[in-house]
Amino acid sequence: MLKVLIVEDSRSFAALVAKRVSLDLGFLVHVAHDLAEARALLAEGAEYLAALIDINLPDAPKGEAVDLVLEHHVPVIVFTADISDAMRESFWNRHIVDYVLKDGQENVDYVVQLLARLRDNPGNKILVVDDSRSYRHAVRRLLAAHRYHVLEAASGEEALARLEEHPDTRLVMVDYSMPGMDGFALTREIRRRHGKDVMAVIGVSAVGGARLSARFIKCGANDYLNKPFLVEEFYTRITQNLEMLDHIAQVRDMAEKDFLTRMYNRRYFFSAGAQLHALLARRSQPVTVAMLDIDHFKNINDTLGHEAGDAVLRQMAALLASRFRVSDIVARLGGEEFCVLASDMDADRARLLFEDLRATFEATPVIFGEERISYTVSIGLCGEPGLSLDEMLREADRMLYRSKSAGRNRVTQYEPRAAELPPQVLAAQRSL
Ligand code: GH3
Ligand code: MG
Ligand code: MG
Repeated sequence: MLKVLIVEDSRSFAALVAKRVSLDLGFLVHVAHDLAEARALLAEGAEYLAALIDINLPDAPKGEAVDLVLEHHVPVIVFTADISDAMRESFWNRHIVDYVLKDGQENVDYVVQLLARLRDNPGNKILVVDDSRSYRHAVRRLLAAHRYHVLEAASGEEALARLEEHPDTRLVMVDYSMPGMDGFALTREIRRRHGKDVMAVIGVSAVGGARLSARFIKCGANDYLNKPFLVEEFYTRITQNLEMLDHIAQVRDMAEKDFLTRMYNRRYFFSAGAQLHALLARRSQPVTVAMLDIDHFKNINDTLGHEAGDAVLRQMAALLASRFRVSDIVARLGGEEFCVLASDMDADRARLLFEDLRATFEATPVIFGEERISYTVSIGLCGEPGLSLDEMLREADRMLYRSKSAGRNRVTQYEPRAAELPPQVLAAQRSL
């Protein structure tokens, strides 16, 4: 469990912030009301994600608690009633995370968001591209204070190599003037490989000002920063750009996933499925399509209610998804019908795997309040090489209905010999 330290002499304010942090984020909060208590808590050696520190404490009126906490390598967020430019400057020089004014509810919200970002930032890779080593070093320190995962490159060529190794990089800071490939050329190269919706680029330059900013953006950058910059502006730009990517990812998630089961939806299945099927066909790798449908699902709704039906769908979907790799596609096509597109499985392995899955569904009742709801699933499989995705889906669906008519709770696999003639032959015959 992540821990946060609050050092604040106002008991009511400390309690308000502690409550929000533990309720909204589930963090464990330790509160010290003065410097002595903070020292005692830190001596116990707990690892804190961050410390929220009031700079004006009865036994530490000049921000001494900030230095104490920084000595323990805990990231610091400063609380203050007001702040002068000189104070701000001195705090930034000590590499605090941020400062927050104590004057309103929205500032408590801000603290909660800030802590959530500190929690998540180790998963955010940022690549700093600049030929100046000292600049890279300074930027790395700023980013490290916010717990970002920092990568560095001294040239455009090196930056492209880093991105090849780390394609999940979310933000690149690109210097304009570098020997070799300049910032514009690098930005264009990045854009040929990575979309603006998944990787943000911030152009940076000491010369040129406004004219460079427009040109950077025309090359595909999301934003621009002048060197030298204020630390506060630096952080707000970084956060702003990452939040934009988060929002785009959320919208995409809503468009591609089913709300009830959090599984991919029909639309995603048909677009991503076509691509995966084409890729596997090109490489002559085996593809398996499975159609799954819960048996007599209507009975569950009719006897136990729609919410019980929803619980069955959710737990069945979670069990199904847990059996496949991220490179496979598992989707809810609609109602109580699911589809899997799996790679690297020959017919025998597919049969065993889905037979085992069927038996697991049968043996794993869904817990819904006091009820234990047993259910079964019928499955149709097709792994016939040379068929299009549509043909495979049609055959898997036909096999599913054989499972249903043969008594349900079973797996039926498409076999071209047993299943009369291959569909292409049938189609050819039909068109004669
Ligand atoms: P079979 O064994 O032949 O598949 O019978 P069945 O009852 O499972 O199939 P049928 O197609 O007759 O009924 C499916 C039911 O699924 C009807 C519909 O109300 C219900 N359903 C579809 N979507 C949802 C959902 O999101 N939540 C719940 N609770 N029920 C749903
Ligand atoms: Mg340079
Ligand atoms: Mg059904």
